[in-house]
Amino acid sequence: MARSPEEEHPQKAFGWAARDNSGTLSPFNFSRRDNGEDDVTIKILYCGVCHSDLHSAKNDWGFTSYPVVPGHEIVGAVTAVGNNVNKFKVDDKVGVGVLVDSCKKCDCCHQGLENYCPQMIFTYNSFSSDGMKTYGGYSDIIVVDQNYVLRIPDNMPLDAGAPLLCAGITVYSPMVYYGMNQPGKHLGVAGLGGLGHVAVKIGKAFGLKVTVISTSPKKESEAIDRLGADSFLVSTDPAKFKAAIGTMDYIIDTIAAVHALAPLLSLLNINGKLVTVGLPEKPLELPIFPLVIGRRLIGGSNVGGIKETQEMLDFCSKHNITADIELIRIDELNEAMERLAKSDVRYRFVIDVGNSLSK
Ligand code: NAP
Ligand code: ZN
Repeated sequence: MARSPEEEHPQKAFGWAARDNSGTLSPFNFSRRDNGEDDVTIKILYCGVCHSDLHSAKNDWGFTSYPVVPGHEIVGAVTAVGNNVNKFKVDDKVGVGVLVDSCKKCDCCHQGLENYCPQMIFTYNSFSSDGMKTYGGYSDIIVVDQNYVLRIPDNMPLDAGAPLLCAGITVYSPMVYYGMNQPGKHLGVAGLGGLGHVAVKIGKAFGLKVTVISTSPKKESEAIDRLGADSFLVSTDPAKFKAAIGTMDYIIDTIAAVHALAPLLSLLNINGKLVTVGLPEKPLELPIFPLVIGRRLIGGSNVGGIKETQEMLDFCSKHNITADIELIRIDELNEAMERLAKSDVRYRFVIDVGNSLSK
């Protein structure tokens, strides 16, 4: 007989889970595995609220296994280390992102591309090698193999640093891999939410000219004055849009919903590149003419490997980059999810898990 989430493992844990596709989150008792030889146990202090958490809570992608405890922008303090752990000690401030394990044997794993390992284990809504379900960071503790744990730089605030563990690496990795980081070039950031606002900051740190492409005119002054974007394009303003055609070298598309690619591709210069990291619930239509006629490329990217995630955290620490956050109590989570669905967040909700999660 299948064991209940409370009985799967010996360490008692508590968090908030969605039980069905209403996406409504509520308190949930479950358990974590014992701290193994290679593991660290982390007391979770903060956890960012990524749109992927919302997609998962609502089963937008069709593969949610309920109950689901979302959360993969986790920052906390180490409370226990196994005998083989040499990277971390008790009280260290650490982070956990989107993945908590992989096969460690394949070419991807050997190259530090655990995020493309066919057997990658996601932080939640996945099954670990012992066949047990994984639960994410909207919870009090997590147990993770030290090789999938990140060090939070000393100068980085723990709350505003948390979103870098998914939003940060998801935009940093493709910018580096696709060479979208050459100083002086022009980057368009489509969608100014959690991922998008960090892309603006990282783009500026790479020395790029950055234009935000948004459906929300009210975000314009913040994008320029607070986040450092050079210009702001309202995607529904035909005159401004026309003037920007063919001006961009790269676009990073972070839009969370189904949208047209043709207008975005029209903004690219010859040889321009559009990388999509947003994961709408339905396929997008792919217009071929703008690709062929302008020798343009379209690509995708899935978070980043562990080594590169550490590199990104150190890069952000050096450039004083963190997320702009709205810190919430865990009992404000359902309201926050409703606002996230309406693109009404400046620019990432972060749950103050340490101070607000109690039974
Ligand atoms: P978010 O904070 O909700 O931001 C998404 C932004 O997309 C919104 O703020 C909004 O920006 C824009 N948008 C939303 N609906 C739109 C629509 N119908 N048409 C045009 N624009 C729309 O979400 P996020 O946390 O940044 O995540 C963005 C997407 O990336 C999600 O689909 C998420 O699942 C995915 N994701 C992928 C990876 C990966 O590894 N590839 C990692 C993390 C997240 P404006 O108000 O500016 O228009
Ligand atoms: Zn995420």
